[in-house]
Formats: sequence, structure tokens, C-alpha cells
Amino acid sequence: MRTVAVTKLGNLRATDESERGAIGVVDFPEHELGPEDVRIKVAYAAICGSDPHVAEGYFRTEVPIGLGHEISGVVEALGERAQRNGLAVGDRVAGNFIRFCGTCRACQAGTQQFCEFIQDYNRPGMAQRVTWHESQVYRLPDDVSLLKGCLLEPTSVAVRIADKTGIKVGDTVLVCGGGPIGQLVLQVMKRYGATSLTMIEPIAERRDLALRHGAQHVIDPIAQDQQAVVDDLTHGRGFDVVIDASGSTRAVAGLLDLAAKGATVIYGAMYPATYQMPLNLSDYLYLKELTLSGVFISPYAFPRALAVLPHLHVDELTTAIFDLEDAANAFRMHLSGTHPKVIIRCNDVPDPVASS
Ligand SMILES: [Zn+2]
Ligand SMILES: [Zn+2]
Repeated sequence: MRTVAVTKLGNLRATDESERGAIGVVDFPEHELGPEDVRIKVAYAAICGSDPHVAEGYFRTEVPIGLGHEISGVVEALGERAQRNGLAVGDRVAGNFIRFCGTCRACQAGTQQFCEFIQDYNRPGMAQRVTWHESQVYRLPDDVSLLKGCLLEPTSVAVRIADKTGIKVGDTVLVCGGGPIGQLVLQVMKRYGATSLTMIEPIAERRDLALRHGAQHVIDPIAQDQQAVVDDLTHGRGFDVVIDASGSTRAVAGLLDLAAKGATVIYGAMYPATYQMPLNLSDYLYLKELTLSGVFISPYAFPRALAVLPHLHVDELTTAIFDLEDAANAFRMHLSGTHPKVIIRCNDVPDPVASS
């Protein structure tokens, strides 16, 4: 089964080719269809900002490492007991790459993100087919195309970030980073009642995208003095909710100064494993009483992500599409930053729902 994988560990951007990581397409054996499993013929798999970190060996160090956790497709086969979701062969679906076991202490404590067995069904979806447990598979709404559907997983991350901000209607909100998660979380926060909704993003096209879909203000952190702009926008108070979706160590450096007293700051990205952020405890936790947290994965968020997805505007995130065998070029495009999202077409699956 053809699967996109990290074939050599290393930074995908390294200028020295001997140190540079590599992405290729390899043959992986098909997973057996267990009694509660669902086999999906994958239509689309989106490249995630976390994938280059995987190439650097963030999670494991033996190659090949299969990739792909943002997928859509159609049900090709069902195990004999995979009936609890009412899924049928031919259903258009998307899914959660993590199966929560439901049995371990973390699952039973209401903290599925720490499930001790999350690797059991974490199978690469940037492939011709993927076999997941039925609890990981969600039927797409009738008005969501397969192309849009592959954004269910990043949408679930946006939902989880929104949950963790604890936003109250009318709170002022700042989103740092206009990549896919930043754009999705901006739209989700808008629906949550965010005010003075502002995005910090150096790329003009991404700022424009945010303005078209709910941002009231945008800040170019290179051309503008972001602290001065934020002071102006918030009358010197700072934002009630600050979300980092950039994953950039340079971008997070000044973020706490943009937060209001008592604000919540969510680090909603993946960061370099060795990065240590300086944190003045007196200024930020004692005097300002900031609440800081992050998001690892998104348990409990998928049903609500599925409900909100039809209302999100994602056309501009689904324009760059490459065929499976062309995955190396797709990753080059991803790294170029030309498109906020790059998508792999894993099979040519006819879709009765037009992409819009
Ligand atoms: Zn992702
Ligand atoms: Zn568990």
C-alpha cells in the first residue's frame, strides 16, 4: 500500500543535503481489518505544520515513518462489529488519527489526550487506505465535500484551543500566526463572540484571508510595532485571550506583553523540542495572573468540529493539491509557504458534493 513517509531523518529545510531530511512514497503492508475496524479509501490527506517536526525525529527515530493525520475518504470495508456509529460502506468520512482506549486511567479520568495507548491505532493516513477503529471515524455532513472534510482534524484542534481559552462572550482576542490553525481558530473564536479580533501575521495574503473571514484588525509584525498597535487597539490593556498558532519561537517571545491582566494565553502549536521560553514569573504570573496552557491533541472535540465545519470558510486552504506519488514536491511547496495548506490526493474518489 503506497504511503507517504519520512525516508530520512533531518530538517527538511537544511541547506546541506547530507543533513536534510527526506520525504518519499513507500510500500507499507495493509493493516488487518479487526472486528471493530473501518477501512477507508483515502481521498485527501493534508500536510500539517507538525509533519516537518516528525521528519526531524520528534516522536521516533527509525525510518520510514508514515505520515498523515488530516484525512477524508470513503468507507471501503467494515469489521463485523463496526456498527455502533451506523457507518456503511461508501459513506464519506473523516477521522481522528488517535484512538482513545477508554480503559486506561487517563481515559477514565476524562483526560483522553493522555491515553496510554494512543499509538495503538495511530496509522498513517497519507496513503491509499487506512484502517482505523470505528470510534475514530466520523461521517461527513451532506454539505461538506471530501476536500473540505480533510480539514476536520485541524478544525478539532481549533475547537480544543477555543475550549481551553475559556472565552467569555465579548472577550478581546488576539491570534498570532495565520497558517491553517490560526485561520480556523480565528473563525471559531469569531463564532464564540470574540471582539477586537486581531491577527498577527507577516505574510500579506494570510492577513487578507483573516480579514475576509472575521478579523477586525491585522498586524504585520515585521513592518509594524506590534506592542504599539496592540496598546492602541486595547487602550493599553492588552487582550483577554491570546492564542499562538505560529509555533515560531521568534513570534512567541513578545506575546505575553500583549496579554491583559488576568488573560489566558494558549500555545496552540508544536514547538522545537529544545526551545526554552524565558518567563518572568513576577511580571506575568504574580502581577498579571496570566493563565498559560497548550494543546497536545484534541479529545472530545471531534463531534463539535464536525458540527462547525460546514460554517467555516476554508476554500483558500484547499487550492494546492498534489497526487500521492508527487508527495516530495507537495512537501517542497508546503515548506515554501506559498500556500497556507497543501493537500495530497491519495485516490481519485468521485464526490457528489461540490467543493465550495
Ligand atoms: Zn495536524
Ligand atoms: Zn486510554
